[in-house]
Formats: sequence, C-alpha cells, structure tokens
Amino acid sequence: MDAVKAAVSLHTEFGIKDELCSNPGRVDVFDLLDRNNIPCLFQPLDGLLGAYINSPYPGVLISTKRPKLSIQRFTAAHELGHAVLEHQSSLDNEAVIARSPFDCNLSGDEQEIAANVFAVELLMPKWLIVAHMKKQSWQSSDFNNPSVVYQLSLRMGVSYSATCHTLLKYKAISADKHHALINTKPKSIKEKLSGKYVPENWRGDFWYLTEQDTGLSVHASIEDTLIVSLSESASSGYQWFLENADQNVDIVEDWRETFSSNSIGGVINRKLAIKPKKCGYISIEFNEYRPWLTDADPIESVELGCMISDPERRGLSDMMRANSLAAA
Ligand SMILES: [Zn+2]
Repeated sequence: MDAVKAAVSLHTEFGIKDELCSNPGRVDVFDLLDRNNIPCLFQPLDGLLGAYINSPYPGVLISTKRPKLSIQRFTAAHELGHAVLEHQSSLDNEAVIARSPFDCNLSGDEQEIAANVFAVELLMPKWLIVAHMKKQSWQSSDFNNPSVVYQLSLRMGVSYSATCHTLLKYKAISADKHHALINTKPKSIKEKLSGKYVPENWRGDFWYLTEQDTGLSVHASIEDTLIVSLSESASSGYQWFLENADQNVDIVEDWRETFSSNSIGGVINRKLAIKPKKCGYISIEFNEYRPWLTDADPIESVELGCMISDPERRGLSDMMRANSLAAA
C-alpha cells in the first residue's frame, strides 16, 4: 500500500481527523498502535531508537535512551508504518529515523523511506497544521517566526526540525526561510519564551499558552515548563488567580509585562512560569476577578488540560497500561 494513503486511511478509520479538526492537538501514535493491536514496549536500546518485529506477531520497541517525547513519537509512527505497510522486521537507528523523506537525492532502503513518509503524513498532515493555525489565529506569514514554528511543533508533538521540513514540503515557507528557521537554535527560542524565568537547564520544552488555548489538552513532558500569558485588566483591579496550584504544579516565576504603550484601560500581560509536579492528567484553572470580591463570578476563565508524561519510563506505553488495567 502507498505510505501516504495508509496514513490518511488511519486518520479516517479512527476518527482522528474529525476529532483534531474540532479540538487541535497531536495524533496519538501510541493509542493508534494499541488500536491496531500492536504491542509497544519502552526499553533502553543500545544504538537504536526503535525496532519493528513482524514475527511471530507484530510488535514495536521504543528506546528510553533518547528521552525526548517527540523523538519517541516519530519513532513509534515510523514503526507503525512498517506494521501497516506489512514490512519486514527493522532495527532503526538515528540515521534511519532522522533521514528526511523529502530529500530528492535520497537513495537507499525503500522500506525505510516509506516508513518515514508514513510517519510524516500521520503526525503532520496539512489539515492538522491548518487546524492549529485557526485555533491560534496564526497566518502563513507567522511561520517566518521561529517561536511560532516551535509552538506548532510542540502542539503536534513533533520535533522543531521535522516541523520546518514539513512546512517547506507544504510550501508554507520558502527555501530561504526554511534555511533560516533550521539554523535557529531551539535554545535561543526557549530563552525568548522563558521571560524572567531562568531554568536549571534548557533540556525541557517551553509551552507558550494563552487564552487561545482554553479547553485544549497539552501533552507535555515532566521536564517541560508552561509559560502562561494572560491579559489582565489591572487598572480595574482584576487579577488572574491559579486555582489549584499546590496539588499539581509549582509556580516558579510570576511577573507582569506592559501589553502595549498606547493601550487604554491599563491592560497588561500577566505571565506565569509553571512546572508540573507529577505525571498523569492535570487540570489547571485560571480565573480573573477582583481579589476583594472572591465570591463574584470571574470575568474570565481559562482551563487547560495537561497530560504530563515521562519519556524515560520503561515498560508499556501509558495508553496500553491504562487499557490493560481497564480490561483486568
Ligand atoms: Zn525502519
């Protein structure tokens, strides 16, 4: 079967396109492995990012030695590609997984190229990028900004470089702009986003979340930081409050920035740097009200659902673990 068609048919068969067009997020590749009855195990693999085994029955291994969720997700999509395209068993190192399927000069193993084409189409279909653009009110020209491309990559659960390559493939950016984006170091993007917060290290990702993300589910890693930016009607005495901080998250920095020099009514940006304290599902709720009127209804509320995972955890994927428990 054609690799692109195989990915498109999974989007349709499992209702992924309908779901993500109305509530943009990332394609849950581990759930797709489970729903295709392909066991997926996380293990520390030497020299490999992942493997597909087709005998005696199909199965997938994902390495915990490169604990970056986006890499594990792309590897899982590549291995799922081997399974649905009925390939031979495959041991996949970084050179195989990182190889761009868009390189015209590409030669080599057709099975590996097909698995990467499948993975790109599965995780980064054009309609998903359009859905995120609508939700975030991004224009095509915003993809000239590395921070926007980085935020798109986090929301799709893929790497920054894979997002750059895919935007070029869809002709959403020029070759020159692609070159500039690829040469922008993720650390410099993170430094811009982190604002006043200085982390212990720059390994984790930085999610920039605003009112536009209300109702969305964020799929972050335990080492990530959520930078929440909310416009606050400070001159009227309103403030944002995080309602359930203690149990699930730590506020590691809290500051305000002037929204614009000529804004009327004193609207400023309230910014909070938030670290998750535990893995699993976390609901974070912000309400804006006057601190002396805590009984009054808030003038605005923002609720974020966050699924926090630990890419270094061994064993079954969280999805398979949950389904196994439910079936027990
Ligand atoms: Zn492979």
